[in-house]
Amino acid sequence: MVVAVRSCGICGTDLHLLAGDLGTDRFPLVPGHEPWGEVVAAGAGVTGYRAGDLVAVDPSLHCGACDPCRRGQGNMCERWAAVGATRDGAWAEFTAVPAANLHLLEPGFPVEVAPLAEPVACAERGLRRLDPRPDQPATVYGAGTMGLLMAILLDARGVGPVTLVEVNPARRALAARLTGADVRAPEDAAGLRAPWVVEATGNPAAFEQALAGVARAGTLLVFGVASPEATAAVSPYRLYADELTVVGSMAILHSFPAAVDTLRRHAARLAPLVTDRFRLDDARDALALVRSGETIKTVLTPEEPS
Ligand SMILES: [Zn+2]
Ligand SMILES: [Zn+2]
Repeated sequence: MVVAVRSCGICGTDLHLLAGDLGTDRFPLVPGHEPWGEVVAAGAGVTGYRAGDLVAVDPSLHCGACDPCRRGQGNMCERWAAVGATRDGAWAEFTAVPAANLHLLEPGFPVEVAPLAEPVACAERGLRRLDPRPDQPATVYGAGTMGLLMAILLDARGVGPVTLVEVNPARRALAARLTGADVRAPEDAAGLRAPWVVEATGNPAAFEQALAGVARAGTLLVFGVASPEATAAVSPYRLYADELTVVGSMAILHSFPAAVDTLRRHAARLAPLVTDRFRLDDARDALALVRSGETIKTVLTPEEPS
């Protein structure tokens, strides 16, 4: 399918890609793995879409033939590939993707949250791994884009109260306003314990604090992307004596339809996370803003931003 891109987000993964440290890099490459837009053309034999349909794109390209794929664990694909990571993506006017990767945005869909489809699909996958129960407290470490999303989505499914732990004071003020969570500096979160904990920073020190903050019989979701060389201290005794569960979550797995539903139901709360829009021509400025950390979700658009 050929999709005319309405907008495509920039995320931390793109910064790694551009720095050349993703391991899967093949240059030259057009980045962009968070697009949504309008169907303009279909390949021979493709049915089910009409020109003008609005769609969000799942960038995952699972081979379907390797052992993990055949076990239903396509995000662990041995030939892992993705739109905007191993083949040309959507920081462009048009992007070509397999029809199976499109998710229809029905008429009336709140398109202001469409740029969040891919990150919310990652968050939905993470929440399935965490599998929290409602009416129990949760703590999220890190108020970056994904930490904010996690705090909102936990609250939206009745898990809470949610505490959000963030180092940066400017981010704390913003996070409190956007999530309604109890937002604290790390030094004010010592001794905090919750049965459901999400590590969304990728920082080993935050991981250690997050693990310390898991209540007995609780679960830690490792959701932030640490550097592959990073290590952290773990007490085997605590894992044993407190029956802790530690789970990881990588990208998207069968969670895109749930993400589209979540966006529709919680559009009003999620829309303020799309903070900055740039034209494709100004991608350099957009990347500088993302590197500065002073944005939540920045998107590139081929059109004049409104
Ligand atoms: Zn991303
Ligand atoms: Zn595979």
